[in-house]
Amino acid sequence: MPKYQHLFFDLDHTLWDFATNEQLTLKSLFQRYQLDKYFSDFKAFFATYQPINNSLWLQYRNNHITKKQLNTGRFHQTFLTGGLDNETMATNFAGDFIRENALQTTLMPHTLEVLDYLKPRYHMHIITNGFVETQQLKLDESGLSPYFERLFVSERVGAQKPRRAFFEYAIKSCNARKKESLVIGDSLDADIQGAKNFGLDHVFFNPAQIAHNETVQKEISSLRELIDWL
Ligand SMILES: [Mg+2]
Repeated sequence: MPKYQHLFFDLDHTLWDFATNEQLTLKSLFQRYQLDKYFSDFKAFFATYQPINNSLWLQYRNNHITKKQLNTGRFHQTFLTGGLDNETMATNFAGDFIRENALQTTLMPHTLEVLDYLKPRYHMHIITNGFVETQQLKLDESGLSPYFERLFVSERVGAQKPRRAFFEYAIKSCNARKKESLVIGDSLDADIQGAKNFGLDHVFFNPAQIAHNETVQKEISSLRELIDWL
């Protein structure tokens, strides 16, 4: 009998290629909103947006700002650096981004091959800090839905990863045992720390092989490594 029965996968940057999809969406919106009037090119816009977005996401994760402040704020603040002060436009841009980004379908390398292998062997679930309205759509549009039994979105659970409450809720909802559960994710802060907080086995997916000082039980740089290991 395999050691694990339940696999809990993170979605963004683990299965769904957020970085590629985000760039595709923002590039098309950059043109539609004619942001070349305020930024030298898309690259300059994106390089400004990234740190602002990361900083606001961290504040949102720590409950310091609301979802609306995150969504509108990240674009309003980016626009401001180009000399554009237009909150209405930032709100519209944010709405278009959320809606259209969820329709993108790029997956991380080997995702479907690995899920095809795992599907008959394990119960699989998604654990994600994203928004309710986007995460289900991403799963449906990219063909991931059939592989997963449950989708746990932090917004609906009422706690974000890495909070113990999030993981406890997910495990209990699946009637899973902790010892038989495995967390797989790309974020040391959210997925790996969260698994540790609740005492769950974990796999750190580190495709860029970024150096770190965390102690992790298992680290992989390609999802294919799961086929040999699970
Ligand atoms: Mg992730």
